[in-house]
Amino acid sequence: MPSLDVVVKEIADEMRRRTERGEVASYIPELARVDPAAFGIAVIDATGNIAVAGDSETPFSIQSISKVFTLTLALGKVGDRLWRRVGREPSGSSFNSIVQLERECGIPRNPFINAGAIAVTDLILSGHQPREALGEILRFMQFLADDPTITIDKAVAASEQRTGFRNAALANYMKSYGVIENPVEFTLGVYFHHCAIAMTCRQLAMAGRFLVHAGLNPSTGARVVSSERARRINAIMLTCGHYDGSGEFAYRVGLPGKSGVGGGILAIAPERASIAVWSPGLDAAGNSHLGRAALEALTKRMGWSIFGA
Ligand code: GLN
Repeated sequence: MPSLDVVVKEIADEMRRRTERGEVASYIPELARVDPAAFGIAVIDATGNIAVAGDSETPFSIQSISKVFTLTLALGKVGDRLWRRVGREPSGSSFNSIVQLERECGIPRNPFINAGAIAVTDLILSGHQPREALGEILRFMQFLADDPTITIDKAVAASEQRTGFRNAALANYMKSYGVIENPVEFTLGVYFHHCAIAMTCRQLAMAGRFLVHAGLNPSTGARVVSSERARRINAIMLTCGHYDGSGEFAYRVGLPGKSGVGGGILAIAPERASIAVWSPGLDAAGNSHLGRAALEALTKRMGWSIFGA
């Protein structure tokens, strides 16, 4: 087995030399300011060793990666009743598609496309003030990453709040079907802010560990979710975590993974490793171009694909 440290450093060097990096997201104006040359990676193996390279200590906007954690929280709050409001099938369409929602009577295909994640946020919000719900989400991230310094980038949240017309359309459409319970502006406010949580690759890899260890936080032994729930969250990450690029991600990387338009990807090798990569340039489906390339190289060299070495 090759040394994880060596492999991670090699991959970061290879990625630094690549010229084709994809396009940085610009529909959220604040995200367009990020340096397209950035690349970071952090891998925490099953024994707790951490291998990092590149810009692994630079905070970036986790965007849709936050949806893994809001799904986890919402399942904790309402259990399987969640599936009355959101499906769990891959969408085969873009992350912010409206057309599918109309055909399927306001029920989003899965919790990771925007419509589904907005419905999940609404479940977390019910019975609380927006500030309380947001505080709960942020504290959950801090707890999982074992790092109280994680914050929300207010400039990114405000930037999306000013320009998130499509998400407002999705939320209003769901509201018309009763899928959203709270005032649309409250639900969207919480959604935009949890997407704007800023984390480093190291912090994100730390936060993903409970999905590697069948629902346990390995540093404290505390149970975050049941093993069955961890397995199922991993299944949804595999089938839906990269939108209409989920099949390609499974084909090339072979791990449950969740991307965000900030250019981050959290990938889980069950019982082996929690991996976070970040490179802001995106492919046509809105997934990190070099992030996926790096994960493809990592799983190949380490023999970590869930489908076999
Ligand atoms: N906040 C972003 C949006 O709603 C998240 C999208 C993403 O990361 N794919 O558009």
